[in-house]
Amino acid sequence: MFMKYVFSILALTVFQVTIAAAQGLSKTEKKVVAYIQSTTNQAIDLLKESANINSGSLNIEGVKKVGLVYARELEKAGFTCTWIPMPDSIKRAGHLVAERKGKKGKKLFLIGHLDTVFEPDMPFTPFTMVNDSTATGQGVNDMKGGDVIMIKALQALHAQGLLDDVTITAYFTGDEERGGEPISVSRADFIERAKQAEVAIGFEGATGLNTIATARRGSSDWKLEVTAETGHSSGIFSDRAGYGAIYEAARIINEFRTTLSSEQYLTFNPGLIIGGSEIQYNASKASGSAIGKDNIISPAVVVSGDLRFLTEQQKENARAAMRAIVSKSLTGTNASIKFEDGIPSMAPTPGNETILKVIDGISQDLGQGPSVAGNPGSRGAGDISYIAAYLDCVDGLGASGSGAHAPGERIKLNDLPYLTKRAALLIYRLTNK
Ligand SMILES: [Zn+2]
Repeated sequence: MFMKYVFSILALTVFQVTIAAAQGLSKTEKKVVAYIQSTTNQAIDLLKESANINSGSLNIEGVKKVGLVYARELEKAGFTCTWIPMPDSIKRAGHLVAERKGKKGKKLFLIGHLDTVFEPDMPFTPFTMVNDSTATGQGVNDMKGGDVIMIKALQALHAQGLLDDVTITAYFTGDEERGGEPISVSRADFIERAKQAEVAIGFEGATGLNTIATARRGSSDWKLEVTAETGHSSGIFSDRAGYGAIYEAARIINEFRTTLSSEQYLTFNPGLIIGGSEIQYNASKASGSAIGKDNIISPAVVVSGDLRFLTEQQKENARAAMRAIVSKSLTGTNASIKFEDGIPSMAPTPGNETILKVIDGISQDLGQGPSVAGNPGSRGAGDISYIAAYLDCVDGLGASGSGAHAPGERIKLNDLPYLTKRAALLIYRLTNK
């Protein structure tokens, strides 16, 4: 501990990082660990209580009820809780925010969500033990298990007086699975509060006990529109008639593939294509129709697709390359492409890596072996992506289980004590400096 203190004073981050690994548990930390071990049953009870409340993203009353349960528990850990309402037009419940303010250590932003993908019109499956160490129920894995890990970690730290002068915001969104539109409204408060903090920790499901998400890909959409001269098919390829819209669209998307498909972490999928003499496309329904004849050169094509990327730079570079391909029109054709931003990426940064190093030290100290960064391609986007540009971020500190987003999702209760200890010590080591 003394060595660590000296290095902190020198503010040599690089040294802090190297000695963060396996420093051994302090006396205080051992107390936290023992407390968590002895309160495992309470954690399972809280999980059961919250999983037995249906909180599909559109079930406004249910989401608020889960929020009340968590607020009750967070108040026990000395937090002040506030409900952030949404305008009626958003048709979502709102968010729970729990705060403590102090002067010690890093300012933390902990992320959970109250909602699940299971709406009230789907069959209700209560919390049930599948065997002596596995349970099923709505949201047990995604992510009420992670919410409970965060809350019990905070209670354990509070019980040892370790939260007295720290700054922590615990933010539970009410619409993670189906974000209220527009996102600029439903995530405005979330983003604003995150900007006040220094480190964000997401409690979405763990992918294995030794893997932490230090990066997640972002997503955006594109729409390609091609128009062309039309005429009798017998004239195609001539200077006068040109190549038609279908050949031009095929050229463009094939060149996207040959030019860009081998770039790591970059993917782009044309999900829909409509072409012919007369086309109709309805973007909001993701559907359309076409009329065309074999002997008519097609005058119109529309293609819509997505684009997934690891950094904003990668996104911009890909868009520039795609625009260049689109602009090289075949004779008699004209094409344009429009891009629309979706969820930003959580880029892998040195700051995120530093937090991973702290977690690695903790997992080794708890006898669980080293922790490594997960594959950014293996995760969908989540709430943390909206704020990743503003602070250091890690995700995947939540429950271990299987079958998220499907009836019968499961949580491994045997892992709950370890995951709660890891979360508590991470919060402690980041705030106790
Ligand atoms: Zn989730």
